[in-house]
Amino acid sequence: MATCLGLFPPSPAGKTFQLNHKSPPLFSSPKPHITPSRKSRYGIQSSKFGSFLDLKPESKPEFLDFDLSWFDPADRPRCFDVIIIGAGPAGLRLAEQVSGYGIKVCCVDPSPLSMWPNNYGVWVDEFESLGLVDCLDKTWPMTCVHIDDDTTKYLDRPYGRVGRKELKTKLLENCASNGVRFHKAKVLNLEHKEFESSIVCDDGIELKASLVVDASGFASTFTEYDKPRNHGYQIAHGILAEVDCHPFDLDKMVLMDWRDSHMGNEPYLRANNSKIPTFLYAMPFDSNLVFLEETSLVSRPLLSYMEVKNRMVARLRHLGIRVKTVIENEKCVIPMGGPRPKIPQSVMAIGGTSGVVHPSTGYTVARTMALAPIVADAIVECLGSTRMIRGRPLHHRVWNGLWPLERRCTREFYSFGMETLLKLDLNGTRRFFDAFFDLDPYYWQGFLSSRLSLRELLFLSLSLFSNASNPSRFDIVTKCPVPLVKMMGNLALETI
Ligand SMILES: Cc1cc2nc3c(=O)[nH]c(=O)nc-3n(C[C@H](O)[C@H](O)[C@H](O)COP(=O)(O)OP(=O)(O)OC[C@H]3O[C@@H](n4cnc5c(N)ncnc54)[C@H](O)[C@@H]3O)c2cc1C
Repeated sequence: MATCLGLFPPSPAGKTFQLNHKSPPLFSSPKPHITPSRKSRYGIQSSKFGSFLDLKPESKPEFLDFDLSWFDPADRPRCFDVIIIGAGPAGLRLAEQVSGYGIKVCCVDPSPLSMWPNNYGVWVDEFESLGLVDCLDKTWPMTCVHIDDDTTKYLDRPYGRVGRKELKTKLLENCASNGVRFHKAKVLNLEHKEFESSIVCDDGIELKASLVVDASGFASTFTEYDKPRNHGYQIAHGILAEVDCHPFDLDKMVLMDWRDSHMGNEPYLRANNSKIPTFLYAMPFDSNLVFLEETSLVSRPLLSYMEVKNRMVARLRHLGIRVKTVIENEKCVIPMGGPRPKIPQSVMAIGGTSGVVHPSTGYTVARTMALAPIVADAIVECLGSTRMIRGRPLHHRVWNGLWPLERRCTREFYSFGMETLLKLDLNGTRRFFDAFFDLDPYYWQGFLSSRLSLRELLFLSLSLFSNASNPSRFDIVTKCPVPLVKMMGNLALETI
């Protein structure tokens, strides 16, 4: 078995590049500035099966201590300009933005003050451009991608973990100062009339608004789709863990580790992993604290969760990582790609339910933070003090604000990326990312952050093809025609 030392190549000193060797890592990073509560930092919990899977997460549900402006059932009329269903990142960001223009907003969620459960990662430049960099609780100056045992790519693009508490507090503070009302309930039902929509909550309260926005996440049943939802799925098992030691360099976030040497003694796991591969995503906080996530980038049908966990056990064992305490764990299932919602429809959507999830990566948070102000502008144009555009024209404008033609077309392209990834086995995936991260950083960064135009995406594809190895070109030529034809058909439909 490998030990914690000796599995990773040394730190690079400069820009994006690739190394092809194996030598000991440098534990050179300064201490991170976050210190999550770790009750049993030095008390080792032993695991019955020799794996971390039977360790219970130590963290308890957390609530923010914040003075919100609550909806009072005695208030009459129970009518708002906008009701937002859900106080996740998407709902609160839209509430913050739209209320900033004096629009009357009510946000309904069963637990508006609960801490969000997921660990979110974003590229630092994405949050910088949104003025949200103070909401990252840890950043890494570089990221790295292990293609295989011999090839590691170092990416000169800083990565950050979203401080859930910081981001939620900031959004709530802005909502509070803009007069957003909150109602603690679950929405059961929606009804639409010509110029008004209403919601019915599980406490019997009925509220009305000119516009209802669905920000209730992936599992929403409020948003309609007019085609069957043939998603791909990202599935991952993540733990924030206290460990004896780990082999990760502290100034690098591991975006993807596609190595499979840990499968040496696991023939069953290896066979399946070579068909539907998983990678490790790792955020090292200090030499004993790390967030680790075994991830299937995309699968259809969904890869078994137990299989993902078993692969993670084998990988950690091989890396010599002994988990002492699981502080938090998360099951990550993200529907990706598939059709976008029907446009327009009487309920507006934002976040996980609105089709904005990156079809090839599952990233959503930074994009939602960037799109909410655009949707807010469209809402304000209709419901602001000078204009009173409601009903169908309102729905039309807000949906087209989120999904203008160019964005619909680029989404088709990103979905083509997902369909291509679905067809690649481990070796094909490795070859793909080997060529992808060799592209000009403008293109690979733009692709991952959904900010390339259609023309740039076409250029990216041609560059990828010309940079690719011969086996990779063979993969593209043999596996991509069907998704390509589908994409062309969908692009034609969008532009008609
Ligand atoms: C485990 C996990 C990890 C992820 N990691 C990343 C990442 O690192 N980076 C990234 O960019 N994306 C990530 N994603 C994808 C995506 O960013 C998140 O899913 C994100 O939480 C979506 O935000 P949202 O506000 O749309 O939905 P959610 O965060 O799901 O919030 C929805 C809110 O609506 C409420 N709600 C639901 N139903 C109702 C109802 N009927 N009435 C009232 N309220 C309701 C819920 O209680 C919740 O508060 C991750 C997803 C998961 C599941």
